[in-house]
Amino acid sequence: VASIAIEHLTKRYPSGTTALDDANLDIADGEFVAIVGPSGCGKSTLLRILAGLDTATEGHAAVEGAAPAASALPSATVFQEASLFPWMRVGENVAFAFDSLGVPRADIQRRVADVLALVGLGDYARAWPHELSGGMKQRAAVARAFVTDPPVLFMDEPFGALDEQTRVGLANELMRLWERSPKTVVFVTHGIEEAVTLADRVVVMSARPGTIKAVIPVPFPRP
Ligand code: ADP
Ligand code: ADP
Repeated sequence: VASIAIEHLTKRYPSGTTALDDANLDIADGEFVAIVGPSGCGKSTLLRILAGLDTATEGHAAVEGAAPAASALPSATVFQEASLFPWMRVGENVAFAFDSLGVPRADIQRRVADVLALVGLGDYARAWPHELSGGMKQRAAVARAFVTDPPVLFMDEPFGALDEQTRVGLANELMRLWERSPKTVVFVTHGIEEAVTLADRVVVMSARPGTIKAVIPVPFPRP
């Protein structure tokens, strides 16, 4: 069974723009899929629909067999700008992903400390978001997404705002986290190199009219 099924997915905005036009794609359980394509080709629209943040005009999408729901946010999404709550310390931001999951407090504290250490923020649990660099904030956002071990993760250019060196470092960290706890990932990026390095398959979208042009398996093992 596909972890994510996208069937005849079409999105027309009220402005008249067709952002997705009859897109079809199955993503297997545990697969890491990267979506690339020129600006405006519909990548973010597709991800927002999968994450339950927007609805399709026609067709449907199923995540783990059900209609997408925004209820799992923010434990299942990482966007370009780290959406850390500025009024919460870094550790509290990461722990927030456990809200309403009913996990015992001691477990939460252990898992938060563990995942922060994994992304190199072991000493920053009590820091405030504004005290962190852009790369550190993104690492905290990635830690928050992984800490609850969700089966599916949506990432929209999570490292897009960062410089090349930081981006490569974060991609490596993401890979380490993913290997420790493989999950279905849909990862939107402008970087074809990043896509090929990280993903099992690269989905190439074409600018007009928001269609999937090619789905390319990546035969190389991950570094
Ligand atoms: P990408 O992520 O590939 O850059 P988007 O999904 O953001 O593409 O956008 C696809 C198309 O839909 C673009 O033409 C964009 O301008 C348009 N679009 C995106 N969001 C909206 C919106 N909320 N309202 C109207 N048009 C939108
Ligand atoms: P991306 O390329 O990552 O999709 P954008 O800058 O295109 O980022 O879009 C950022 C936000 O602006 C999104 O929430 C999108 O829905 C909205 N947006 C994009 N294009 C349009 C548009 N033509 N009209 C209204 N909103 C838009």
